[in-house]
This record gives sequence, structure tokens and C-alpha cells, in this order.
Amino acid sequence: MKLAILSRAPQAYSTQRLMAASEERGHRARVLNTLRFGIDLAGEEPDLMYRGKQLSDYDAVLPRIGNSVTYFGTAVVRQFEQMDVYTPNTSNGISNARDKLRAIQILSRHNIDMPATAFVRNRADLRAAIESVGGAPVVIKLLEGTQGIGVILAPQVKVAEAIIETLHSTRQNVLIQRFVAESRGRDVRALVVGDRVVAAMRRIASGDEFRSNVHRGGTVEPVQLDAAYEETAVRAAQIMGLRVAGVDMLEGEDGPLVMEVNSSPGLQGIETATGLDVAGAIIDYIANQVNFPEIDVRQR
Ligand code: ADP
Repeated sequence: MKLAILSRAPQAYSTQRLMAASEERGHRARVLNTLRFGIDLAGEEPDLMYRGKQLSDYDAVLPRIGNSVTYFGTAVVRQFEQMDVYTPNTSNGISNARDKLRAIQILSRHNIDMPATAFVRNRADLRAAIESVGGAPVVIKLLEGTQGIGVILAPQVKVAEAIIETLHSTRQNVLIQRFVAESRGRDVRALVVGDRVVAAMRRIASGDEFRSNVHRGGTVEPVQLDAAYEETAVRAAQIMGLRVAGVDMLEGEDGPLVMEVNSSPGLQGIETATGLDVAGAIIDYIANQVNFPEIDVRQR
């Protein structure tokens, strides 16, 4: 198969591993810089330019679209879809996952359990919103946050109100979310490929920190997930329109609570923690879809 890996970081661990896994399997893979595409809407057939020239034929594309280039990146992926090039993650899927609020709305509509969440704009509605997710302590999340930045635990309702008002006054949108205390600073990342979890790890926050992000000093360990966690992760990814995804779950009293579905999951942490060949699993899945496509109306 001829595979295009869309990435702006050819030297990054994940890109290198995907390239190596492709080569090991005899595929031809190229890393293409997402921002060097030109979307050609002039002719009758949908086309793409790359570095000013017509793009050659590809069987599949693996988008690894960073946060900062979502708009242009998803437009490029949409163009590949229109050209009938297989992509495990659709442009819609990537857009849905990028927007935390939209993702929660879609998943809750499909009965995926998540921490109770509220979203309001007017200060007069704050108290009711905080109470509706269970009162203080309460988690406040910036919609655009990553790596745990912009995730705040407010111990009291008054403090929560003050923080949210301050953020609103700087035009930031925030989610108000139940603090899942029973997860005790731990969460689970499941790497979903197609209809299975190919690797999973638990992240553990350091000291009295409640955020388990590695960027916040968290540590990781491999974990064997229960069937309920595996099933939830696969369903969440599929509902979002993603065949390659990192699904983050808190360990709630009654089972998995999905926090986030990531459309370009990093491979370094999970491959290092588990020793598993996640890159190989992704490449094998894509090659299999190219050779024996699933009938999926969302791809057409
Ligand atoms: P980011 O996308 O910035 O990583 P997350 O929403 O994943 O933000 O939150 C960061 C970390 O904070 C999570 O990995 C988890 O450890 C912790 N966390 C987030 N939401 C909750 C919650 N509702 N209850 C308890 N812990 C949470």
C-alpha cells in the first residue's frame, strides 16, 4: 500500500514509529507536511496539490493533525475523503474530537457514561450549573486546554464561581464537571484501533495533584482492562468516527467514565509503558481496510 502520513513533525517519535512499521511491512509510506497541501477546487474531480504540484496517488492517509492546524488539516482530510482515499479518522471525527463540548454532547447522546458536565454562559446560571453536577469540589475545564493546563479543582462553590466569572470575563469558555474523587488521581488511556483496544496504560498523578498528565508529573504503568472498559473505549471511538483513537477514562464507582477521545494519540508513552507495537497495529489495520474495505456509509 502507498500511505500518506499527515504530520508536521517528521522527526517525532510517533511519526518515526509509523514510518518504520510501514517499511517493515513492505508498504511505501511518506510523511507529508499538512500545511504544504493545496486544496484544488478548480477541476471536475476533487484534487490535492502538494508543494505546488499535483499529489500522486495514495491508497490511504493517516492524519496526525495537531491542535493548532485543525481547520486547515481537517479540510485536507475532507479532500482526501472526496478523492476516495481511505482514512481511518474522518475529518468529521477529528473535528468532533477536537471540540471538548461537542464531543461530550455526541457521546452522551449515545449513552456513553461521562462525568456529569454543565456548560453555561451567564453568571446568574452558574450556581445552578455547579449544583447540577453535584456541587463542590468541582472541576473547571477550559474548552481549549491540553496537557492538563486549564483543568482546575475548585474546593468551594464560591471559589468556583469566582474562577468561572474571571475566565468568562476574558472570553474563555469553560466546562463545569463533577469531580470524580474515587478515581484518586488516576486515569486510563486506551489505544483503540478499529474494533479493539491494542494497548492500555494507567496514568497516576504525583503527590496531591489530581491531574494525571505526564506533563504534570504523572507516571504510567501498563494495565489489563476489564471488558467494560474495552467496550466503552471502542464504542466511544466509533461513535466519534475514529478508527484510531486514544480514549481517556476515569475509573468511576460504577465503571468507566469517558473524559476525552483523542484523534492523534501519541505513541511514545503507551509503547514505552506496555512494550507493545502500537504503530504496527495501526499500519496493519489500515492495510487491511485498503485491501478489504468495511462498508461504512460515513466514509462515502
Ligand atoms: P487535558 O485534555 O488537558 O489532559 P483532561 O480533561 O484530560 O485535560 O484532564 C486532565 C487530568 O485531570 C485528567 O487526566 C485526570 O487525571 C484529571 N481530571 C480531569 N477531569 C476530572 C474529573 N472530572 N474528576 C477527576 N479528575 C479529573
